[in-house]
Amino acid sequence: GSEAVLVGRSNVGKSTLMRELTGHTFDTGRNPGVTRSPNHYDWAPEDFVITDLPGYGFMSGVPEERREEIKTGIVRYLEDNAEKILVAIHVVDGKSVVDIIDRHSGGEEIPYDVELFHFLRELDIPTVVAVNKMDKVDDRDERLDAICDRLGLLPPWKQWQETVAPISAKRGQLDPLEKAVRTHLHDQERDDLF
Ligand code: GDP
Repeated sequence: GSEAVLVGRSNVGKSTLMRELTGHTFDTGRNPGVTRSPNHYDWAPEDFVITDLPGYGFMSGVPEERREEIKTGIVRYLEDNAEKILVAIHVVDGKSVVDIIDRHSGGEEIPYDVELFHFLRELDIPTVVAVNKMDKVDDRDERLDAICDRLGLLPPWKQWQETVAPISAKRGQLDPLEKAVRTHLHDQERDDLF
C-alpha cells in the first residue's frame, strides 16, 4: 500500500498534527519517547496509510541509550520502507528549531533535524518540512528563510513551497502542508505514467 510517514523531534506537535489529519484521538505527551513501534493510521480522504514514528530528542527520564535505540529504529524503518513511502512529513517547531539547530552546530555533532532531512533525501523520499506552531512566530518570513538556510535550501522560502509548509496544527491551519503533500503525490502519479 501507499504510505506517508510523520517524523520529527519530540514535542514538535506530531500527535496534534496526526489527530488533525486523521481524526483519530489518542494520547499525547504521555510516556514521551516510549512509543515502541510505528503507529499506523488510515488517512481518510487520501487512499493511504500514515505512520507516526516515535519522536526523537530530549525526553526527561529517558536515558541516552534508549534515545539512541529510538533513533536507530527510525533510521531502520525508513531504510526498510523507503520504496513504498510516498512522502515524509518532517515536523519541526517553528518557534525553536533554528535555535536548536544552531546550538548543536559546529564541532562533530550534526543537528538531528538537519541529519534527518538529508537522510530522507539520500533515501529519495519526497519530504515536506511542516513548520508547526507558526501561531507563535512573529517574524514569519525571516524565520522560514532561516529554516531553509539551515537545511541547505537557498532562501527565500517562497521558492520552496513544495518542501517547506508553515502550519499550526493546534489551530487546524494545514493548507500549505496539504497542498505540498498533494504536489508530491501527483508528481509520482505522473512519473508512473511515463
Ligand atoms: P509530539 O510530541 O510531537 O507528538 O507533540 P504534541 O502533539 O504532543 O504537542 C506538543 C505540545 O505542543 C502540546 O502542548 C501541543 O498542544 C503543542 N502544540 C502542538 N501544535 C501546536 C501549534 O500549532 N501551536 C502551538 N502554539 N502549540 C502546539
